[in-house]
Amino acid sequence: MSESTSHDRMLFNRAAFLAGGAATITAALPERSRGATSAPAGVTPERLLGRLMAGNKRFIDNDFPNVNRFAEKRELLEASQAPFAAILGCSDSRVIPNLVFVQGIGDLFVARVAGNVPDDLVIASLEYSVEHLGTRLIMVLGHEGCGAVKAVYSAVETNTSLPPHLAEIQRLMAPGIAGVVKARGTEDAAVEANVRAAVAKLRTSPPVIASGAVSGRLLVVGGVYRLRTGEVRLVE
Ligand SMILES: [Zn+2]
Repeated sequence: MSESTSHDRMLFNRAAFLAGGAATITAALPERSRGATSAPAGVTPERLLGRLMAGNKRFIDNDFPNVNRFAEKRELLEASQAPFAAILGCSDSRVIPNLVFVQGIGDLFVARVAGNVPDDLVIASLEYSVEHLGTRLIMVLGHEGCGAVKAVYSAVETNTSLPPHLAEIQRLMAPGIAGVVKARGTEDAAVEANVRAAVAKLRTSPPVIASGAVSGRLLVVGGVYRLRTGEVRLVE
């Protein structure tokens, strides 16, 4: 083992220790996945969801970690990353995944797009996280008061088209919320329906995410963020 490799391994093992993982697991892993220390193979995706939601509880309670650890994490993660969860969130300035779940550098792989709709680029990003970084939990995170959902709701209701390039968001989102609009449901109901549609689309997106979801190796869930309280409520 070269000196640099030995040093790298020491850093990885230290990262595993800090992440609560087992250093022995990381030593046995191949180069590509050695960084997967924050989600060792024995930890179920359901436990990872518990870890994510525990972070949200901290956010609600305004319980933030010591930011001095950021510098340490930067060093530990210089050569590798192993985010334990991937988030598909909205671009809304008030819904910031790493804050909402009180997670630091290297913990979350995040794709954000207005209305949290999964197009091919978003799916490709999430696939990368699952396939190459070992992520075994994906959460689609919608939120109350979503401007994109409001705009598409209104366009569907009035049978009009949003201008380019918003029309692309409408094309992706409209099928998922059409039932709510037809039933004259609330915008909050449309937000939920949009999250459900995104979760369903991801769960059936081959090859990477669908196969992971079918095997149980990957959990895909939805959540809705409450603007006032900071709470994320899981959506079934
Ligand atoms: Zn939004």
